[in-house]
Amino acid sequence: MLTKVIEQSKIDHFAKWFERAEKIVIVSHVGPDGDAIGSSLGLWHFFNSQDKIANVIVPNAFPDFLKWMPGSKDVLLYDHYKEFADQLIAEADVICCLDFNAIHRIDAVGEAVLASPARKILIDHHLHPEDFCKIIISHPEISSTSELVFRLICRMGYFSDISKEGAECIYTGMMTDTGGFTYNSNNREIYFIISELLSKGIDKDAIYRKVYNTYSESRLRLMGYVLSQMKVYPDYHAALISLTKNEQGKFDYVRGDSEGFVNIPLSIKGVVFSCFLREDTEKPMIKVSLRSVGTFPCNQLASEFFNGGGHLNASGGEFYGTMEEAKAVLEQALEKFKPLLNAKG
Ligand code: 5GP
Ligand code: MN
Repeated sequence: MLTKVIEQSKIDHFAKWFERAEKIVIVSHVGPDGDAIGSSLGLWHFFNSQDKIANVIVPNAFPDFLKWMPGSKDVLLYDHYKEFADQLIAEADVICCLDFNAIHRIDAVGEAVLASPARKILIDHHLHPEDFCKIIISHPEISSTSELVFRLICRMGYFSDISKEGAECIYTGMMTDTGGFTYNSNNREIYFIISELLSKGIDKDAIYRKVYNTYSESRLRLMGYVLSQMKVYPDYHAALISLTKNEQGKFDYVRGDSEGFVNIPLSIKGVVFSCFLREDTEKPMIKVSLRSVGTFPCNQLASEFFNGGGHLNASGGEFYGTMEEAKAVLEQALEKFKPLLNAKG
């Protein structure tokens, strides 16, 4: 049995909206990851099973390793189909905002969502949700939005209507937001849910291979290169990797090729904090990805130094300036956070 994580009043409130709704739009964050796409499609499959007209809209493209997911071809990319997406958002009865806590995280989609008269619900697990939805289901203690989607569907009484395809999407989001159940994954209920998803016929081993072991040769060579350039700061229990546009060009870089790189330095004994700086291919900025193990608060460092935020162990931000300047800022941040980096925890 699962603990009733989501408040009953919110389940009842959403159930009322749901009964009456014909058209539902699901939106998720820019640079969609496995949990953004997994939770969105998990909910989308469920809405389809109830004969709702449902659409998933995300601001921009998602990585190739998620394209096997059932329904992924129907995900609308806002930067390609703005007019159609604007119409869907304006005409929706209900808009479900998944896996983000702040309206700026959906980029240009935000304007259309704010302008729409639709009823809005937030389902998310990031800290400090902004107040742009009538129903806010926000649970930072839950490791993925996909898990929250599973819990919501079950609490509404529809477990039996979750299809194998929907279960595959939910599982993918749960798996990717916990690094294949290697962090934020000690809640025993996660494994109860996995057991329920397996009862739908999913092949979890195949899903793991499809997500993690379908990379290109050039991605692996890029990984080797990036690691060979890694800087380790033993006095700070930290490591830094980086990737300029020039370097991306040498390795036929395509979006998503550096997915997961930021986690690798954490496999060094003693390293509790990893930073990955990558020159963005679209905007004139450096994307900052931060990861930690234990109690080191990446999100605090992200918000103080890189105008960002996120979770304790996984966060990010943006830097406007050169790679050298970004590295200098990171080194200042290391100095400031030295006591926490050296704390045993
Ligand atoms: P990633 O390193 O995978 O891009 O991001 C990890 C986590 O950091 C995301 O799930 C999100 O919570 C947070 N994050 C990433 N980039 C930003 C950002 O620019 N601003 C904020 N507030 N959070 C971010
Ligand atoms: Mn998530």
